[in-house]
Amino acid sequence: MTAAASAVEREADRLTELDSAIGDADHGANLKRGFAAVTAVLEKESPTTPGAVLTTAGRQLVSTVGGASGPLYGTLLRRTGKALGDAERVSRATLAEALTAGVAAVAQLGGAQPGDKTMLDALVPAADALATSFAAAREAAEAGALATVPMRARKGRASYLGERSVGHQDPGATSSALLLAALAEVTA
Ligand code: ADP
Ligand code: MG
Repeated sequence: MTAAASAVEREADRLTELDSAIGDADHGANLKRGFAAVTAVLEKESPTTPGAVLTTAGRQLVSTVGGASGPLYGTLLRRTGKALGDAERVSRATLAEALTAGVAAVAQLGGAQPGDKTMLDALVPAADALATSFAAAREAAEAGALATVPMRARKGRASYLGERSVGHQDPGATSSALLLAALAEVTA
């Protein structure tokens, strides 16, 4: 979560720029505020298990991030954390299963699926690839984010643009790739 917060802080302007093309130019600011709050709450509450870290972080994202991405990322982290239970240590395989459950919860909440030009285009392949390795998950997320460029948005604010959403990379898929890159970085 610390590495994720740094990545979001570092790339916030780029995320906002992407969101200015097909949204309302707040994605970077939204996540920056959210992950700064996550860092603060984790310092304050010091949860001791991976599952508790994720549920605490997810709860904080829901309460601090306005916009679509707050509830969606909050659900991702809370549901993934819940699936981890109170295990003290978590293997990559267990995390891959938990992340798959978290991603399914995002799909259910937002009613989107891969191909709709959302964060799911990065998250779904990343959760699958995490069964192989952390590096594979990072690469799958990055490829998934790039693959949103030619897509026409069918969910979220970008869908209001119809055909004009084509030719731009989805901000949420891009931030998801950043989060998976942070995970790969700290587990390498
Ligand atoms: P808002 O669209 O409310 O301004 P953000 O700019 O923070 O919120 O986040 C936009 C991102 O949220 C999009 O790029 C997309 O990846 C993601 N998103 C929006 N709607 C959905 C949805 N229904 N399902 C999955 N992801 C979504
Ligand atoms: Mg936005």
